[in-house]
Amino acid sequence: MLPRVKKPKKRIYLDHAATTYLDPKVQKIVNLTSTAQFGNPSSLYLEGRQAKSALESARKDVAAVLKCRADEIIFTAGGTESINTAIFGIVRNFRLSNKGKTAHVITSSIEHHAVLNSIRALEQEGTVKATFIKPDKQGFVHPEDVVRAIKPDTILVSVMYANNEIGTIQPIHEIARAVHKANSKTVFHSDACQASGALDLEIYKLGVDLLTLNGSKVYGPKQSGILFVRKGLKLEPLIYGGGQEMGLRSGTENVAGAVGFAQALQTANKTRLRENSRLRSLRSTFYKAIQKNISEAFLNGPDLEGDTEKDPKRLPNNLNLSFLGVEGEAMVLYLDSYQIAVSTGSACSTTNPDPSHVILGIGRPHEYALSSIRFTLGKQTIKAELDYVLKVLVPLVAELRRVA
Ligand SMILES: *Cc1c(COP(=O)(O)O)cnc(C)c1O
Repeated sequence: MLPRVKKPKKRIYLDHAATTYLDPKVQKIVNLTSTAQFGNPSSLYLEGRQAKSALESARKDVAAVLKCRADEIIFTAGGTESINTAIFGIVRNFRLSNKGKTAHVITSSIEHHAVLNSIRALEQEGTVKATFIKPDKQGFVHPEDVVRAIKPDTILVSVMYANNEIGTIQPIHEIARAVHKANSKTVFHSDACQASGALDLEIYKLGVDLLTLNGSKVYGPKQSGILFVRKGLKLEPLIYGGGQEMGLRSGTENVAGAVGFAQALQTANKTRLRENSRLRSLRSTFYKAIQKNISEAFLNGPDLEGDTEKDPKRLPNNLNLSFLGVEGEAMVLYLDSYQIAVSTGSACSTTNPDPSHVILGIGRPHEYALSSIRFTLGKQTIKAELDYVLKVLVPLVAELRRVA
């Protein structure tokens, strides 16, 4: 029988890695900007100048968080677009200046599909050859494995800052440094969509040439984001037209989206240290209670003990567990009926019946991938909510195992 507990009126949202709600402060500024600065930033008259000024001030705000130049920030329509711009942009620029030569690119096997499928598309076209680096059992990509794969014609390495499914934080600085040392012509891109709410984004500390960030994971607008492009680095645009965003992203700028993204990023950066420690503590209590009350619940990704603010190994809000003998998808639907929102593996692949490429990518058997549940806490998550989740989870897992 399914657990009988009193269901809360308010939904318990524990899928912040899929997307976040809009921060009310961000919403306000987005609404305000859409009406007050509705002009086209390219127009010469007052309305245009006002929109341009709002856009450029958002660019400066983002650059201040990244500690880079404002003209190194390209506003895009989100993480996927930034990633596509980075990958296609580098490859097509290389081919244009090298008589269509095939190039080599490197990435990890546990990247977001925006990276993996962009590279696969280029492979299919026959324009690149790709190497997919296997991470270790906790999802870490080792710099020496990347270096071993570098060839004289390796033009691009793309490794994500933090994994969206299992929360593994990559040693981006070490990887970037090793890549540049092995081949000074190789460009290093990092998909930092999951990192923006929790980690240090200062470019000089990361050593990246290209960096992708988006708004939808940091309480900002969906379809907003940026691509950091190191000064002097050349890429072909993905979208052609009027030449906006330094020629890299044509189309009338989404000024309100850019302003909202800048606001969301600044807030995240200002509050992250305090918030990280609160989330780690909540997560630790929740995990210990699960361990105590549910057998065969296995953690996917880095150990929680080794994860500290000084030396972060795992996103502080991420808990990914395999409840062996229980089908993850069934669990998501049952939890939904109890007012709880969580996900199996990656939200972007719910229409895709294949088990998570990340859980399989760290060497877990199929059974782990099919029974995995990702809890990702957010800034409104409180202990009482997790206590309730536990009250549902313990008998639910027992019941689903019984009827299996
Ligand atoms: C969400 C996400 C993306 C895609 O970003 P969109 O803004 O949804 O296009 C890419 N990479 C990672 C790691 C993500 O978490």
